[in-house]
Amino acid sequence: MAGETAAGRTGDVGSPASDDAAESALSLAAIRAQFPLLSRTIHGRPLVYLDNAATTQKPAAVLHAVDAYYRESNANVHRGLHFLSEAASAAYEGAREEVCRFLNARSAAEIVFTRGTTEAVNLVAQSWGRRHLGPGDAVLLSTFEHHSNLVPWQMICEECGAALRVIPLTGEGELDLEAVPRLLDGSVRLVAVAHVSNALGALLPVREVVALAHERNIPVLVDGAQAVPHLQVDVQDLGCDFYAFSGHTVDGPTGIGVLYGRGERLEAMPPWQGGGEMIRSVRFEGSTYAAPPHRFEAGTPNIGGAVGLAAALRFLGGLPHAAMARHEQGLLNQAARRLAAIPGVSLIGGTAPRIGALSFVLDGVHPHDLGTFLDQEGVAIRAGHHCAQPLLHSLGLTATARASVAVYNTAAEITALTEGVERARRFFAG
Ligand code: PLP
Repeated sequence: MAGETAAGRTGDVGSPASDDAAESALSLAAIRAQFPLLSRTIHGRPLVYLDNAATTQKPAAVLHAVDAYYRESNANVHRGLHFLSEAASAAYEGAREEVCRFLNARSAAEIVFTRGTTEAVNLVAQSWGRRHLGPGDAVLLSTFEHHSNLVPWQMICEECGAALRVIPLTGEGELDLEAVPRLLDGSVRLVAVAHVSNALGALLPVREVVALAHERNIPVLVDGAQAVPHLQVDVQDLGCDFYAFSGHTVDGPTGIGVLYGRGERLEAMPPWQGGGEMIRSVRFEGSTYAAPPHRFEAGTPNIGGAVGLAAALRFLGGLPHAAMARHEQGLLNQAARRLAAIPGVSLIGGTAPRIGALSFVLDGVHPHDLGTFLDQEGVAIRAGHHCAQPLLHSLGLTATARASVAVYNTAAEITALTEGVERARRFFAG
């Protein structure tokens, strides 16, 4: 499916080259050397960082860009006439241009900076939702959603008298995409779906969902927090109306994220927060508002964060994408193969392609205990509900262990994970 494979629009997910071949094609040692934190030890062991879906480590290019911004260009944006304010404004708006290129949006005016994916979804729910949702209306989500693309819709639906509708799972634990045409009846006003599930790493066929929704004139919001780090996302190719992602899962700083909104959509939306930066004129009798994207950026923005995000996107954009995708896919395949061979381990998730993450459980061992055991070996994974409680509930689970990869991970680190799980199995078996 164009725009949605791990290797991007021009590559293939296919079977990976050997781990060694993929690693040397990427100059993995040189990539790792750019992430200072990767060289530290944890509990006396070399760090094996496999919690990248929660947040990635940051390359020196990002650390340097943020440091240089605060050392050399720090000032408030947009209002100042002095040199530094102009430099800060140029850096901030330059970062917006960088995001625009990265997502292949038509214009930088379609890029709104937010605190992250969560705030981007809340922006659409509060601004678009309050204007378009009413009694009898529905918002269609998938069972895979992170709480960030669920609770904001619950809140606005409750306020407006609208309802949530959910694409269910099949008996095999797959998303039941055949149910989508039936679910998209006359009451659905918006579809909001993840591009990649954070809990399972499952890729959703977002373009197909967009096509089905658009046939019925229903706009679509895509939560791309787990897709942008791994796929070459092209919002024009996907055709979605809104696309949200966070800086910190894509090698950038925390506290900065993006809402892409198709120009016509943003133009027609009211502000959701009031304050400085978002106005055209203010009188006690009433105010008029700036055009997008500034209409949606009340108050002093996270200028340093935007600068860091732009550096992260440049860094990621500078890597050979097909080799990176093949490498990450190879790591996940290696992990899946070796974990599945451990007695008592079950991999969670159906047959959808896995992107970036893999979830599993070990019989008789709570995922939290497994996570703590691995931590003692320097291996960082995540254990819990992954902010996807309804999904885990639908699968009859309360928690899983999740390993998630980034380009800097190695085959040796996957071996450390799987050997650690095998040791945990023996340890807890007593
Ligand atoms: N959506 C998905 C799929 C995620 O994985 C995450 C966080 O990891 C979020 C939304 C929320 O992102 P943030 O906490 O950065 O706003």
